[in-house]
Amino acid sequence: MAKLLEIKGLKKYFEIKKGFFSKPVFLKAVDGVSLEIKKGEAVSIVGESGCGKTTLGKTILRLYEPTGGKIVFEGRDITHEEAKNLMWYRRAASLVQQDPYGSLPSFFTIYKILEEPLIIHKVGTKEERREMIYKALEAVKLTPVDFFASKYPHMLSGGQMQRVCLARAIILKPKFIVADEPVSMLDASVRIEILKLMRELQEKMGVSFIYITHDLATTRYFSEKLMIMYAGKAVEKGPIEKVIADPLHPYTEALLNAIPDPEPENRKKIRHVPPGEPPNLVNPPPGCRFHPRCPRAMDICREKEPPEVKIGDRTVACWLYSEK
Ligand code: SF4
Repeated sequence: MAKLLEIKGLKKYFEIKKGFFSKPVFLKAVDGVSLEIKKGEAVSIVGESGCGKTTLGKTILRLYEPTGGKIVFEGRDITHEEAKNLMWYRRAASLVQQDPYGSLPSFFTIYKILEEPLIIHKVGTKEERREMIYKALEAVKLTPVDFFASKYPHMLSGGQMQRVCLARAIILKPKFIVADEPVSMLDASVRIEILKLMRELQEKMGVSFIYITHDLATTRYFSEKLMIMYAGKAVEKGPIEKVIADPLHPYTEALLNAIPDPEPENRKKIRHVPPGEPPNLVNPPPGCRFHPRCPRAMDICREKEPPEVKIGDRTVACWLYSEK
């Protein structure tokens, strides 16, 4: 598979206190993340809330201006491309947000909502747009399409609204979609349905996906590659089956241990989650950011940041695997 997107050492810092007489203070939401995505590939990015995964997705889409590093899409460096020159990228890369209730304008019909991006990007005649809208509704299984096209968002269920968001994300035939916690606000009963639909769209359209989630258990339904984030850093990357079957990083191991056991008789077993909270990203701990919670921390972990090392087709940032 050919490479679609490459991010190298990407950083996004938010200035939270301006420094007139003192040094400015930054929240380092994303701090040097690298990742490659091939054409048609699905990658899940997993981490606890506040680890920087949403900021990473929005920075890749150039909804946030990167602080450092590089974003290369189809061989073109778009890291600091001006917004007025990014219309082609807005068409090639789209976003599905967490909250379908808040991301659809309540005063538009579904038809209007889906027509808007086509009008903005000057795509098709009125008749051609109608055909595209109906095809997108069919692709996300909102049928009969006439029935759904005339509805307003508040007339739909959460799962149906998220299908509309997916229809809007695919209507311009993008090459790449970032889905940010797309099922976390939905009932458990429809979550797997939506993930399976995303997988179907990915396979049929050959579109690449980044699926951002805090729920490691759901990634199996969706992606072939996994990246685990902790406190603004990528701590482990690799093929999903291998990472889940044999996690290298102690944090990945902790996330896996925290997944509830599907067997009812095992549900009350104590899970081995390390105590403590993720660090404050304004002033993260020195060395490995996971060291205050890591059961295997060594002296070096408190002093020096572990480099990313390659182990076969996987990457891990942990002193257990690096030369000290
Ligand atoms: Fe734990 Fe050290 Fe590895 Fe960090 S570098 S995860 S503290 S063993």
